[in-house]
Amino acid sequence: MKTELLAPAGSFHALTAAVQSGADAVYLGGDLFSARQGAANFTIEEMKRAVDYCHMYGVKVYAAVNTLIKEKELEQLVSYIEEITKIDVDAVIVQDMGAVQLFRQISPDMPLHASTQMTVTTADGVRALEKLGFERVVLARELSERAVAQICRETKAEIEVFCHGALCMCYSGQCLMSSIIGGRSGNRGRCAQPCRLPYTLLENGEPVANGHLLSTKDLSLINKLDSLKNIGVSSLKIEGRLKKPEYVAAVVGIYRKYLDSGENVREADKQELLSAFNRSGLTEGYFSSQTGKMMMSLKTPSNVADELFSADVQRRAREDADVRKINISVSFTLHSDDVCRVTASDGVHTVCTHGTQKSESAINRPLDAERVRTQLLKTGGTPFTVCDTSIIIDDGITVPVSEINSVRRAAADALITARQTMPERRICDYSKQLIHKTYDEDIALTVQAETAEQLRAISKFSVDTLYVPASLYSETLQMFPDTNVVLRLSELDDGNIISGVPAVMAQCLSQTRSYADRRVYGGFRLNIYNSEAARFYENLVSVTLSPELNLREIQELTENADITAETIVYGRLPLMMMKNCPIKASCGKCQKKTQKYSLRDRRGEIFPLICGDECISILLNSKPIFMADKVEDLRRAKINRIRLVFTVENFSECGKIMNVYERAFSGEAVQNPFSESGFTRGHYYRGVL
Ligand SMILES: [Zn+2]
Repeated sequence: MKTELLAPAGSFHALTAAVQSGADAVYLGGDLFSARQGAANFTIEEMKRAVDYCHMYGVKVYAAVNTLIKEKELEQLVSYIEEITKIDVDAVIVQDMGAVQLFRQISPDMPLHASTQMTVTTADGVRALEKLGFERVVLARELSERAVAQICRETKAEIEVFCHGALCMCYSGQCLMSSIIGGRSGNRGRCAQPCRLPYTLLENGEPVANGHLLSTKDLSLINKLDSLKNIGVSSLKIEGRLKKPEYVAAVVGIYRKYLDSGENVREADKQELLSAFNRSGLTEGYFSSQTGKMMMSLKTPSNVADELFSADVQRRAREDADVRKINISVSFTLHSDDVCRVTASDGVHTVCTHGTQKSESAINRPLDAERVRTQLLKTGGTPFTVCDTSIIIDDGITVPVSEINSVRRAAADALITARQTMPERRICDYSKQLIHKTYDEDIALTVQAETAEQLRAISKFSVDTLYVPASLYSETLQMFPDTNVVLRLSELDDGNIISGVPAVMAQCLSQTRSYADRRVYGGFRLNIYNSEAARFYENLVSVTLSPELNLREIQELTENADITAETIVYGRLPLMMMKNCPIKASCGKCQKKTQKYSLRDRRGEIFPLICGDECISILLNSKPIFMADKVEDLRRAKINRIRLVFTVENFSECGKIMNVYERAFSGEAVQNPFSESGFTRGHYYRGVL
């Protein structure tokens, strides 16, 4: 199996640069639902033109429809799916489970690729998507060579990994930083990159490190191509839909060269990659376990490359570049009293064309094979190079040279059309499921606790459901014999199944599948944004809606799906989940057992940093959400269960919050205990772009 080289096409110009430089496939975004809203992106007409251009060269086109989608956008998505199906893209890249459902219904033949935004880190994760019909899964970038190899061995779907370009500090699809800080959601292609800003690391409140503590170098796996091929990776993705055509040409050209040759990478080519773009160097990152300080660009978050591109790169990056050629064979026959006939073949497609003028007896010089060959080789202006000709001419006859040229041109056109013609895909009707739902005004209070101290504070109150981590599970069962205790599974699927637990909170698709024989509660990391996604998870006891939705969007969703909707109404939201512990990366050592850490931003906001097992760190929001004084608004949005999430709160803070919410739910008017700047309403009254 050939390993595919997949290039970014943020614009038509970048697309031609990618194709001319040897990409096997490109990915691009439409003007709707694409996770790079900053790129030029393509209208449907431009996308069709791009598809035709690429297919002429035998290059595949994957359309990114990979944002999370709001309820009110579903209708628009339905027509978008129909349009995108008609223009022959080779696959679509999706993140939203609602989009997956709509594609399956409306465009059942369309191959689906799971976006890296789906945060797939295990073979279980890949298999869960295989069962939904996914052809390919783009893995999370946080995986080691060993982990990728294991996934390739144990699964059938095509596996795609990132080989070059920007890394995110947070697991893709799990970042709320830009969304919470400025309302620009990374899940909607509008990340404002707050991770590239300077921060101060505080240890027990004292500064211990300064710099761009969340800013990673760009990834480069140019020295790992052999390994990537051997472990069975199907596709190597170059990041960079916001980068310029020269960048695309340079990077694609070098990867093409070494993917084909298998040689060791020359120093000059390593330099060319650095010269195209780098933030204090390039890194092999998680793939080669080059984590810690090594993969960070702590001093500067910006590109420091000189961007001096070679003449060769510039030639391929020209808008009218025409350097990529496809070998074809052409045969020509001319019999007496017949028109000339040309057959052209690229090895897969064969086309036959013929002229209009019959051959005549030659008065002076009969047509000879050499003269015909000269004309057949003139393929300028087409993507073809003739590498083989066969010519048969009866004796003593001729046709005009113009006739040969016009048949040759017709053959080239026919071959291009044949290459661009794709099997037609079905487009099926979509009928929105109508539901008749009665809303039970009785809202259940659920609580998520992290520490034994918090549990003690909570024990004085009555709660419907208690979500606790595995480490607190048995203790909680003893302390709360009459409460519904749910084990909160790890943030990322680790492939292990915990036995003897009747109820779990799942944080990803594969966990909902692995625990399907228990009672499963869906966590907010399922990224449920619309009723189609919610309906996909309708077998769960409850689903936590994305904290990026505002109250109106929540209501639009809950009115369309027969689910038990849960939202987080108190707590510090986890803004980032990081494999590369920023404490270790900036101090060299993470003393999470004894010290408390946080990051301070330029405005003085302090974000607690919690480092868990194996140093997977969670950056919490600087302020907790507080909604106890807004219970009526929550009810109007038809939320069934509301959750208080305790993270860094101590015994008395936890007790105070429990008390306020309990009183609020018994109908008392409560005072907000926080100062003006001490809390947030999250997205309930604003939402995201
Ligand atoms: Zn750590």
